[in-house]
Amino acid sequence: MDFLDHMLGLFSDFTNPKKRVFLGYLAVSVLIALGCLVLSRRMPLRTALRRIFDPRVFFSGSSKADAKIFVLNRAFTGFVSPLLLTQVAIATAIYMALVRSDLLTWGAWADWPIALVIALFSVAMFLADDFTKYLLHRWMHHWPALWSIHKVHHSAETMTPLTVYRVHPLEGVLYATRSTLAQGSVIPLFYFLFGEAVNLYTIVGVNVLVFAFHVTGSNLRHSHIDIRYPRWLEHLLISPAQHQVHHSVAVHHYDKNFGAALAVWDWLFGSLHLSEEEELTFGLMESENHSATDLKVIYFAPLVEIATMARALPAKLWRRLRRQSSKHYPAE
Ligand SMILES: [Zn+2]
Ligand SMILES: [Zn+2]
Repeated sequence: MDFLDHMLGLFSDFTNPKKRVFLGYLAVSVLIALGCLVLSRRMPLRTALRRIFDPRVFFSGSSKADAKIFVLNRAFTGFVSPLLLTQVAIATAIYMALVRSDLLTWGAWADWPIALVIALFSVAMFLADDFTKYLLHRWMHHWPALWSIHKVHHSAETMTPLTVYRVHPLEGVLYATRSTLAQGSVIPLFYFLFGEAVNLYTIVGVNVLVFAFHVTGSNLRHSHIDIRYPRWLEHLLISPAQHQVHHSVAVHHYDKNFGAALAVWDWLFGSLHLSEEEELTFGLMESENHSATDLKVIYFAPLVEIATMARALPAKLWRRLRRQSSKHYPAE
C-alpha cells in the first residue's frame, strides 16, 4: 500500500513548494528566462519562446531518459526510504549526547531575542545543507567508485529542469543520508542552546532562503538558457551558467563549480569557475563508456564498474604493501 501511495504521488513534487520542480518555481523560471532573452539580449518574444521551449532539447533521447529515470527512481525510493536513517534518530542521539556531556550549557542562550534565534536557525540550516551538498558533490567527482555513480547525472546531453532527478538511485541514497545528518545535527544543537524559540522563517512552508534560491531560477541551471551573473556575484552565488559549466565536456571545465546555491565554497576551496560567453557541450567524454539514453547502461554500468574496482582492490593493496615493505627493508 505504501509503495502504491508512493507511485500515485509520482507527480506530487510538482505541487510541493519544498521541491525544486514545483510548478510555481518552474513558471517563475520561464519568466526569468524570457526577461533575460527579450530585455537584455533583445530577442523577439516569439524567438525567445521558441528558444526556451526548444523541442530539440525537450524531446531529445537524453531528456526522454530523464523522464524515465524520474519515474523509476521514484519506485526505488518507495522501497528504500523506510530503511534509511531517520532525522529524528540522529537528532535524538546528538541531543542526548549534548545533555550527557559537559561541553555546552543547556539553554545557555535561551534568553536571546526570538527573532534573532529564528534568523540564526534559518541561516544555519541553509548553510549546513548547502555546504554538505558541496562536500559530497566534490567527493563524488574525486573518488572513482562515487564518480561511477555520479556519472549518471553528467551523462545528460541536453538539460531540462527534470535533469535534477537524473541520478543513480545510490546517489539518491547518499544525498538523503547527507541531508539527514546535516539537518539532524543542526536541529538538536539549536534546541539545546536556544530552547523552545527555535523555528524557521518560512514562505509557503519552505525556509525563506531555500524559497529565495528557487524563485531566482534554480531550475535554469539544468537548462540551455545560459543566464550569467555579474562576476562579483558569481563568487557568492552559483549562476545557471556556472552549473552548466559544471556539465561541460571541455577538459578545462572538469571539477569546477560543485556548489549548489552558494559559490563561496568553490571560491574558498579553489574550484570556482566564472561563466563566460561560450558555447558548451554537455555530457561525458567517450572514454567514460556511458550512455545518455540506454537505461540498462545508466543503471547497471556503475554497479559493474564498482564491482570491477572491488575485485581489483586486494591485488592493489598487496602491491602497495610490498612497495612499502621494500622501501623499509631494502634488499641487501
Ligand atoms: Zn557533478
Ligand atoms: Zn547538474
